[in-house]
Amino acid sequence: MKILVINAGSSSLKYQLIDMENESVMAKGLCERIGIEGSKLNHTPNGGEKVVIEKNMKDHSDAIAMVLEALTDKEYGVIGDMSEISAVGHRVVHGGELFSGSVVIDDKVKEAIKECTPLAPLHNPANLIGIEACEKTMPGVPQVGVFDTAFHQTMPKEAYMYGLPYDLYTDYKVRRYGFHGTSHKYVSVRTAEILGKAPEDLKIITCHLGNGSSITAVENGKSVGTSMGFTPLAGTVMGTRCGSIDPAIVKFIAEAKNVSVAEVDTLMNKESGVYGISGVSSDFRDLDAAAAEGNERAKLALDMFVYSVRKYIGQYIVQMGGVDVIVFTAGVGENDAKMREAITRNLEFLGIELDKEKNASVRGREEIVSTEGSRVKVVVVPTNEELMIARDTKELLK
Ligand code: ADP
Repeated sequence: MKILVINAGSSSLKYQLIDMENESVMAKGLCERIGIEGSKLNHTPNGGEKVVIEKNMKDHSDAIAMVLEALTDKEYGVIGDMSEISAVGHRVVHGGELFSGSVVIDDKVKEAIKECTPLAPLHNPANLIGIEACEKTMPGVPQVGVFDTAFHQTMPKEAYMYGLPYDLYTDYKVRRYGFHGTSHKYVSVRTAEILGKAPEDLKIITCHLGNGSSITAVENGKSVGTSMGFTPLAGTVMGTRCGSIDPAIVKFIAEAKNVSVAEVDTLMNKESGVYGISGVSSDFRDLDAAAAEGNERAKLALDMFVYSVRKYIGQYIVQMGGVDVIVFTAGVGENDAKMREAITRNLEFLGIELDKEKNASVRGREEIVSTEGSRVKVVVVPTNEELMIARDTKELLK
């Protein structure tokens, strides 16, 4: 069975074709500048060279048609015919409280995704366009929606409610949702496999540290707390997002700088985080280099990132009454050994002992990086959201 995984943005579309016999990626790629002049498709067949196809794509249907052409091309294609694709799995950002798992898409589901649009005004419409483009271009092929928020729907009410008037929850659905759910689910399931345990027997803290970061407490295989909130702006300090701050600061900045609340929102999303603190970059490699050269603000930005991640680890250890595994994933978590060391520093009293030498050698691969004797395991697991989407899609087709 071959499954096409689609992640549609407003002007871009990422895809992977996955062979579920052995869960291998047959080809992957990205359509850029959809509906904008200069649109192009980057397509890479497994084991082959990347091909760049420059062609006008006026909308997402054009993009999907081009993806199908690339996948079936005589030279760089990987399948003979479109009919080999059994189903399409779509990443959908927001499922609100309507979706606690993946679903086969029909008209009712599309309506419900639309209903969640006020919660993710930029993402959900783009995801829907991707779904409708596939329906049009690949009629009759089952489509599945996999939601970024779904995994976190198991949080207890005290963990997802905010201390605001209750009618803001009932009338406007203001609550913590959490994001990166597909990644937290994938790495927690994979971690249990690596340790030879059932997810039901573990208390796991998953640290998805990338440009956007979130920390999740996974108890008995279920998310019971996560650091992102109503939007992905909350939680740790991030690449360009400020993370959780005193909410009164919003009004203060708006008045002090005489700007609108929307402008403050943009400032908090795009000009803050380690980028805003350092004034150097949002990329952790640049910050490492700048800090090594003595840039104090770059060092401060990195220290603040570490501090904010540790804060959530501490919170979730208390919430779960312990922890068995801490997992690192995503760009920083998978690749930045120094960051993993800083985050787990001085936690021996909790039974967390990093094998520093081993940790330093691990980049972008699965490995247990705690010492043999460490009561709490520290594990690096590269995330694979596309595979998780493909697995859910396959499961629903049964
Ligand atoms: P997202 O999917 O949120 O855009 P990623 O998970 O791809 O982000 O992570 C991107 C981040 O990972 C960047 O800030 C980048 O600096 C960081 N990163 C990637 N490789 C390394 C590395 N070797 N050392 C430190 N940081 C790294």
